[in-house]
Amino acid sequence: MTVKETLTELVAIDSVSARSNVGMVDYLAHRCQDMGFDVKRLAYTDNNGLEKINLIAVAGAEPSNATNVELALVGHTDTVPYDPNWEDALKLTDRDGKLFGRGACDTKAFIAATLTAAAAVDLKQLRRPLALVFTADEEIGLVGAKQLAKAGAIHPRFAIVGEPTSLQPMRAGKGYCLAEVLIKGREAHSAYPDLGTSAVFGGARLVTEIERIAEQLRSEEHPAFDPPCTTLNVGVIRGGTAKNVVPGECRFTLEWRPIPGQEPGRVLNLLSSAIEVAKARDPQFVCEVDAARADEGFETARDSLLVTLLEELTGRDAGTVAFGTEAAQMTQLGAESVVLGPGNIRVAHRTGEFVPAHELQQCVEILTNAVRRLCL
Ligand SMILES: [Zn+2]
Repeated sequence: MTVKETLTELVAIDSVSARSNVGMVDYLAHRCQDMGFDVKRLAYTDNNGLEKINLIAVAGAEPSNATNVELALVGHTDTVPYDPNWEDALKLTDRDGKLFGRGACDTKAFIAATLTAAAAVDLKQLRRPLALVFTADEEIGLVGAKQLAKAGAIHPRFAIVGEPTSLQPMRAGKGYCLAEVLIKGREAHSAYPDLGTSAVFGGARLVTEIERIAEQLRSEEHPAFDPPCTTLNVGVIRGGTAKNVVPGECRFTLEWRPIPGQEPGRVLNLLSSAIEVAKARDPQFVCEVDAARADEGFETARDSLLVTLLEELTGRDAGTVAFGTEAAQMTQLGAESVVLGPGNIRVAHRTGEFVPAHELQQCVEILTNAVRRLCL
């Protein structure tokens, strides 16, 4: 079966994150078993009560030691939703060497390439074990990969995590963190402001402090990234009910993308200090912080065997990504991780996402050679 035929079948399986991924996992488990992999399904129930499965397929391992593998190829089974008007979303369509379909780029192309690469290697000859790891719910917060990390389900020495990088190896990525901030004031008629406390004035002062924190963090540089520092954003702010009411509540969402290596609580600690200062200045200032998400970044050394091997196989220098990936969880599991895949992240998640057919083919060759060099 060609890689394009495999991609056609993968795209035909609707695997948006809002659905169960059991159909997709059944297909992948079948393909892996046919090649001689031992497969393990790690199921969990998502927040909507749906069954989700992480699939781990291992070849070449001692049965007593099946979680320690030399190389893991990691791809997520889910996709972002698609516009119902995109009639061919689930039908891989080839136009001028571009393969269109939901997930064609992110990240079913990589999954198709892993299956094709594994089929090109004689798995009975493996001297060091190979794993294919297919995760659930990456698009809604790396949920499946976090389950794997928490369970210590696999311990790869090296991991190649599939995301569209136009086949450039990416050896580091920023983290992704979110906090919901709520400032509580006291409502009053705006003609008598002293009878209340404005949550919006309090919130505005805190946002100004956050801008100062962002400025301060610019001096903590990681030169491999562009921009080279942790970035902060207040993306949403809401407060008040009417023009003539002193607002009783103000909420905003603070998002930041920490550079790897920075102390994990750095931004939250700076935020707490800013809140303490605001309280000291105004005893009426009441603020609650809900740190909703704290995904770490990852970094693999420039001279890691996997980095240099992929630089050699792709002919390109390793770079970094500013978006969150499952490489962070693979790193937590002990792997030296690199993100690599066909297609461009800029067309991912769009109606009409596509993967260039020649990159798909090239990815098969890169992965086949990586497996041969690391596992044979
Ligand atoms: Zn992806």
